[in-house]
Amino acid sequence: MSLQGKTAVITGSNSGIGLGIAHEMARAGASVVINSFTDRDEDHDLAKSIAKEHGVDVRYIQADMSKGDEARALIEKAGACDILINNAGIQHVAPIDEFPVAKWDAIIAINLNSAFHTTAVALPMMRKAGWGRVVNIASAHGLTASPYKSAYIAAKHGIVGMTKAVALETAEEPITANAICPGYVLTPLVEAQIPDTMKEYGMDRETVIREVMLKRQPSKEFATVEQMGGTAVFLCSDAAAQITGTTISVDGGWTAL
Ligand code: NAD
Repeated sequence: MSLQGKTAVITGSNSGIGLGIAHEMARAGASVVINSFTDRDEDHDLAKSIAKEHGVDVRYIQADMSKGDEARALIEKAGACDILINNAGIQHVAPIDEFPVAKWDAIIAINLNSAFHTTAVALPMMRKAGWGRVVNIASAHGLTASPYKSAYIAAKHGIVGMTKAVALETAEEPITANAICPGYVLTPLVEAQIPDTMKEYGMDRETVIREVMLKRQPSKEFATVEQMGGTAVFLCSDAAAQITGTTISVDGGWTAL
């Protein structure tokens, strides 16, 4: 699978799933734009190291996905956007009657609204280029719910719905829009929660992973960032040209329960 000549823009990609997707896009030969809201030397160094590893052009562009104008500017600054991966996302856990308003607004802005803004600017570029792929990183929580995550679940169900609308608006063009729905993925963020959870439950690492973290994931294994990247690359392949407006679960069976 070669994505040579294509430019992939991945929101929220200086860590975790976004970074994993950046590596797989670069491995497939795409030019890559990585992004976050920070503007540190290490962000730009990260872009250089991915470029060196895979021999492709990689740029870091700072833009805060909680702000619509910055989300739009990210795509404009990228200059080309054949592959748009809407990945930036945050979480907050609280009962709905205690849910902080600022947290609700931030989750809806970053996890949902930013994808509206980036897609609105990217689609005309894709049309001009005569090819395009929109890949939204939703979640098992875009298809099912859990208590205390109302904003996240609203945003993830919302992005699944928006994916379908974009697919219908582009159905007769060589452009597709799909959502990947990961289950629990072992990112640095998740890894960092393991020691505290071990202490809290008085369990060893393996028991915490099986019985607490992966309680709802029948495979009892984390999905990996490489698997998310591989699925995104597949959605950019010719084999996936007629896959549009749908969700692909990479969740170890979570949504089969
Ligand atoms: P992460 O915290 O490692 O990555 C989130 C990324 O978003 C980071 O690069 C961060 O810098 C960036 N980001 C946060 N706020 C931003 C902002 N305002 N502007 C720009 N960038 C911003 O988390 P992750 O686990 O890699 O999550 C990535 C996506 O995958 C999210 O949309 C998340 O909801 C989704 N997801 C994750 C899991 C999981 O188990 N890790 C499961 C399902 C879905």
